[in-house]
This record gives sequence, structure tokens and C-alpha cells, in this order.
Amino acid sequence: EAKADGGNTYKFFSARMNEQAARAGQIEISLRQAVENEALHLHYQPIVDYRSGSLVMCEALCRWTDPVLGPVPPNEFIKVAEESGLISRLGEWVIREACTYFASCNQNGHQLGGISVNLSTRQCRDTDFIDRLARILRETGMNPACLHLEITESMMFDDRRIDPVEVMESIRELGVNISLDDFGTGYSSLSYLKRLPIDMLKIDRSFIKGIEHDTAGQALVRAIVSMAEGLKIGIVCEGAETPEQCELITALGCNLIQGYGIARPMSAADFLRYLEEHRGPAKKIMGAV
Ligand code: C2E
Ligand code: MG
Ligand code: MG
Ligand code: MG
Repeated sequence: EAKADGGNTYKFFSARMNEQAARAGQIEISLRQAVENEALHLHYQPIVDYRSGSLVMCEALCRWTDPVLGPVPPNEFIKVAEESGLISRLGEWVIREACTYFASCNQNGHQLGGISVNLSTRQCRDTDFIDRLARILRETGMNPACLHLEITESMMFDDRRIDPVEVMESIRELGVNISLDDFGTGYSSLSYLKRLPIDMLKIDRSFIKGIEHDTAGQALVRAIVSMAEGLKIGIVCEGAETPEQCELITALGCNLIQGYGIARPMSAADFLRYLEEHRGPAKKIMGAV
């Protein structure tokens, strides 16, 4: 009986693994085409100074709707892109698109302070990554001080073929800012914060979930904020979904907030309208050089 169950469980898992592998294969084929045809697009989510109410910057988030598969979530297709090596071209397109969009925002008389783009660890492995980044800045006329590249803690530890500090320093030498995304979800020690050239920490949304009923979680956010202040690093809280959470996070010392409670990621056209509605001088971003 138990043995039969075990057998079924095994069959179930292996069938699921086949299904997943098949889907990953499908995604890879379609994604390759989408990247070649530039059929991806970006959504933009505001990052605001909650206390003053001003829009400070935004994060660019990649979106892809395949004609057959429908909308595929970024967590899924970015993973496939990383595993297939497609991430280099995809990632380069994202940076270029974000820089171009940023210019068009400010052409309309808005003063968006900056734009943030996710970087995959795999992308930084490319030996010519820095050259490509420099070329994008040149060709789009992007002010590097307004560009923020988001890396995760995994970059520091998962890969021995690159020296992450060297890559980060080269990024910084171009005048581009570095944010540490999903902060607090890795297993790493805090000591690297002292050594690494980081301009901004983004507290992962798992810390914010249920924070109104979680005094330990509040203590953690307060501690991260004061640590960041001591290190002169800016700080953003991700994933605030309600006004109560926004108030609380602000009371804990974190002014910059990104979350559904402020606004969801939106299309380029919708974000332009959002900018229009939130006209006003952009504030200097904490930690930005
Ligand atoms: P991330 O960089 O941490 O981006 C924030 C994610 O949290 C986004 O999910 C955003 O829609 C979501 N989010 C924002 N506020 C809230 C909230 O209040 N509640 C909840 N539940 N979620 C919120 P999204 O767009 O699905 O992206 C997922 C992840 O995919 C990103 O996480 C990032 O790691 C990756 N990603 C997206 N675009 C790119 C890209 O262009 N390049 C790379 N390398 N990765 C990307
Ligand atoms: Mg991010
Ligand atoms: Mg990220
Ligand atoms: Mg994040």
C-alpha cells in the first residue's frame, strides 16, 4: 500500500517534471523570437517619498505576452532566459528601453529623478557587459546618475567566475547607481555591506507582509533602516499594499516606498499619465551620487 503510494508519488513528480521541462522548452523557443523581434515591453512602478508625497523614481519591470502561451510571468521567463543564455540580449534591451523611456518622460517636462532596472547575475558574467552598458548610456544620452541597476545578494555568492566587486565598481565608475534588491532574503552575512559599493537597499516585500501584526518584523525594518543610515545607503521598502503599511513603514524611518498600496506597475502610456497627475519637483534620491 505504502509502496504503491510511493510509486504514484514518484510518477506524479516525474510527470510534473516532464511538463515543466516541456513548458520551459516552449518558453525558450518563443522567448528567443520575442527577444529578436523586440516583442517584450516594460511596465513601470512608482517609487515615492511617502512623507512628502513626491514621485522620486520608478522601477522598470519586463513583461511578455506570447501569442500562444499568453502572458508569462517574469519570474518564469527570466529564469528560462538565464538558463538559456538569452538573458544577455534580453537584459541589454531592457536597459536600453528603460533609458529611452526615461528620456521621453523628462522631455514632456516631467522631472522623474531616476529609473531602476533589474540586472541578472548571469548578465554580469559577460566580459563585455560594462562596454555594452557604456554604449547604451552614450547612445541614449542617459544621465548615469539617474540610472539604478538592481542586483541581488546571489550575485555575490553564486558565481565564482566573476568578481562581483569588480563589476560593481566598474558600474559605479560609469556613474551608475547600484541597488541591492530583495534585501534580507539571501543567506549572506551583513559584513559585505561594508565592502560593497551600494547606493540603495531594497527591503524585500516578505518583511512587509503582515508587518502591522508583527512587532519582530517592525524591529527588523527599523534596524535595517538605521544600519543603512549609518552606512549612508538609501533605502526603499518594497511590497507595501495598504495605507496602514505605508504609514507604519514611514514611522519606522523608511521614506521611499514601492508597492501596490502606492501604485501597481503600469504600461508606458499609463505611467506617463501617472507622471502628469503627480507633477512636481523630483526630490534628490537618498544615497544617489
Ligand atoms: P523584483 O525586482 O523584486 O520586482 C518587484 C516585484 O514585486 C514585481 O513583480 C512587482 O510587480 C512586485 N510588487 C510590487 N509591489 C508589490 C506589492 O505591493 N505586493 C506584491 N505582492 N507584489 C508587488 P514582477 O513584475 O512580477 O517581477 C518579478 C521579478 O522578476 C522581479 O522582482 C525581478 O526579480 C524579475 N524581473 C522583472 N523584470 C526583470 C528584468 O527586466 N530583468 C531581470 N533580470 N529580472 C526582472
Ligand atoms: Mg527589482
Ligand atoms: Mg530583482
Ligand atoms: Mg525586489
